[in-house]
Amino acid sequence: MLKTSLNLLGLGIFAFMAKQDVRCSFCGRQKKEVEVLIAGITGHICDSCISQAGNIVEEEFGQANKSELEHNLTLLKPKEILARLDEFVIGQEDAKKVLSVAVYNHYKRLLQEEDAEEIEIEKSNVIIVGETGTGKTLLAKTIAKMLNIPFTIADATVLTEAGYVGEDVESILSRLLQAADYDVAAAERGIVFIDEIDKVARKSDNPSITRDVSGEGVQQAMLKLLEGSTVGVPPQGGRKHPDQKMVQIDTKNILFICGGAFDGIKQIIERRIKTQSIGFGSSDGMEDVKENTLSYVNQLDIKKYGLIPELIGRFPVLTYLNPLDKPTLIRILKEPKNALVKQYEKLFAIDGIALEITDEVIDFIVDKAMELKLGARGLRSICEAILTDAMFEGPTMNVTKLTIDLTYAKEKFNESKISKLKVA
Ligand code: ADP
Repeated sequence: MLKTSLNLLGLGIFAFMAKQDVRCSFCGRQKKEVEVLIAGITGHICDSCISQAGNIVEEEFGQANKSELEHNLTLLKPKEILARLDEFVIGQEDAKKVLSVAVYNHYKRLLQEEDAEEIEIEKSNVIIVGETGTGKTLLAKTIAKMLNIPFTIADATVLTEAGYVGEDVESILSRLLQAADYDVAAAERGIVFIDEIDKVARKSDNPSITRDVSGEGVQQAMLKLLEGSTVGVPPQGGRKHPDQKMVQIDTKNILFICGGAFDGIKQIIERRIKTQSIGFGSSDGMEDVKENTLSYVNQLDIKKYGLIPELIGRFPVLTYLNPLDKPTLIRILKEPKNALVKQYEKLFAIDGIALEITDEVIDFIVDKAMELKLGARGLRSICEAILTDAMFEGPTMNVTKLTIDLTYAKEKFNESKISKLKVA
């Protein structure tokens, strides 16, 4: 009885105190000493403690993100990165090796304690030269997925200098920020893939006197992103607008990978090799040039093609892709982890049907893709043309096995729109 009344008395005292003297339960400051005091079930918190707590949470999250990356990199040495790339990208051995090292070094640089040592590791931004549809985007995408970091693809052809119709270069960072779910710290460690960089080459090797909006101007604008500066980015994308609140993104640790077909660069490379070899006792420097001239590409060729030296200087790593020949296309159809054939087999398996596509049909699909000059990108539409009827009928056919043979494949292909495609 006595105990209960003491307890009640205690509560009474507390209630009395709460009314008289409302304080922040964390820092003890009184209501009149703070801007805002929020009441909880058993206490209060002031605005400055909320903001400090916010900072701690942010730091913890940042630490967590960093250690996840650290963890991935501890697990993945260049050889392992290469092995992962092998699961998705067929062939392109040189590019895969170069990229594995570039990515590993880039993130090693990132995880290095700041000014722990005087030696500053340079960034490993990459340019990949290769025909369209040979795996440039696939390589960049696979790396980003492997490291679980934000990734975005930008098309250089839609970029323009600020003030012109088109997209500002900052829009690239808006998209990266969106890919990172607006987590600025994560975006600052992401990968940006800029496609068709060759399309912003200036038209001649000489610096232009007149302004070149679509070419050199864009390259100049891109320098800002590549220099590792802090850039004001409109979070929702679009043009900078005085009313829109900008998010500051530090691009120092963002890895930039550029891709381009660089049509005509082969001639530049060949000419350079021929000139270089004169005087070395060889009449033709191309004697032992491998099948793919692109494998000899260097920074000088890229400059001659029309990228400005300042930009090239920001891309220390340069690599190339091979065109996809028939055996490679066959492997692409069957081997990668998410190979098309595996995908169709899975789709049919869900209906309890074992799908078999004969080797002759695989050959036929690849021949058509090459004939129509569609490369790997065309494989999908040709497969769809052949398999759509089977996918339509299959689920209600009451069968457990379906074999797609050459006669069936040819018939379905010839009926399809894609077979009417005219090749230039
Ligand atoms: P680009 O070089 O134009 O960026 P992509 O990487 O977008 O080409 O390739 C187009 C499609 O072709 C990819 O989605 C992928 O399915 C397939 N592909 C191209 N090259 C390869 C490759 N080397 N290995 C596996 N698939 C490939």
